[in-house]
Amino acid sequence: MKDTVTIVTGGSQGIGRAIADFLADKGGNIAVFDIVDGSETVNSVTGKGRRSEFFSVDVSNLSAVEAAVDGVVKKMGKIDNLVNNAGITADKLLLRMKEDEWDRVIRVNLKSAFNCTKAVLRHMLKTGGSIVSISSIAGVMGNPGQSNYAASKAGLIGFTKSIAKEYGERNIRANIVAPGFIKTKMTEILDEKSKEEMLKMIPLKKYGEPSDIAHAVYFLLSEYGSYITGEVINVNGGLHM
Ligand code: NAP
Repeated sequence: MKDTVTIVTGGSQGIGRAIADFLADKGGNIAVFDIVDGSETVNSVTGKGRRSEFFSVDVSNLSAVEAAVDGVVKKMGKIDNLVNNAGITADKLLLRMKEDEWDRVIRVNLKSAFNCTKAVLRHMLKTGGSIVSISSIAGVMGNPGQSNYAASKAGLIGFTKSIAKEYGERNIRANIVAPGFIKTKMTEILDEKSKEEMLKMIPLKKYGEPSDIAHAVYFLLSEYGSYITGEVINVNGGLHM
C-alpha cells in the first residue's frame, strides 16, 4: 500500500472516510471524490504524513468523473486503486416508489461504478490496478422497501465479476465488499424498533463499525489479496451466510 494512490468515492464521511484513514495508516495516498466537502478526510490523511486531494464530483456524471480522474493523474501522478463506495438510499415499497427514486439510486450506486471504473481503466491498463466496490447485504439477499437499492447493489456484483474476467490478464483485479448493518448516517435514520429487530438477528450481537469495512477493503486492495479477483466478501456479523 505504501506510496499507492487510491481514489475513494464518497470518501468525505462514513465508510469512505474510514477506508481513506485506514489506507493512509498503511502508507497510501488518497484522492477523495464526493459531493460533500472532503476537507476533514484530506486533513486527516495529510496529518498521517500522506498525500490527499479532494475532488468535488458527482460520480453519476461520466464527463465530471473523467475530468476528476485526469485531475488525479495530473496532481498525484498515477492511479493504483479505485474504491467505488459512494451510495444513497431512497427506500419505499415498490408500489409507492417514484420513477425518479428508482433512477436516482441506480445512477448514483451503479452507473457511478461504470463511470469511475471506465475512467480509471484507461490508466490501469498500462500499470495494473485493483478495484473494490461496496455492495450491500441487500444486494445479496434482497430487502423489502429497498428494491431500487438492492437492484443497484446486486448489479455491482455482476458488473465486478465481468470486469474481473475482462481485465484479469492485464493485472487488474476487481472485488466486492458487501457490508451488513454499519453505524453511519445512512443507518442512523432507521427507527429504533427496526434497529433492535436487526440486532437480534445478527449472530455477533453488534452493529458493524466503518473500520470493519475498511479492513476488508485494505485486504483486497493490498498484496494480501493479490490472488483474489471476482470475489464477494460479506462483512455483516453473520447476518447473512
Ligand atoms: P454515507 O455516510 O451517506 O456516505 C456516503 C458518501 O457518498 C456521502 O458523503 C454522500 O454524500 C456521498 N455521495 C452521495 N451521492 C454521491 C454522488 N452522486 N457523487 C459523489 N458522492 C456522493 O454512507 P455510508 O453508510 O458510509 O455508505 C457507504 C457505502 O456503503 C454506500 O455505497 C452504501 O450503500 C454502502 N453500505 C452501507 C451500509 C451501512 O450500514 N451504512 C450497509 C451496506 C452498504 P451525501 O451525504 O450528500 O449523500
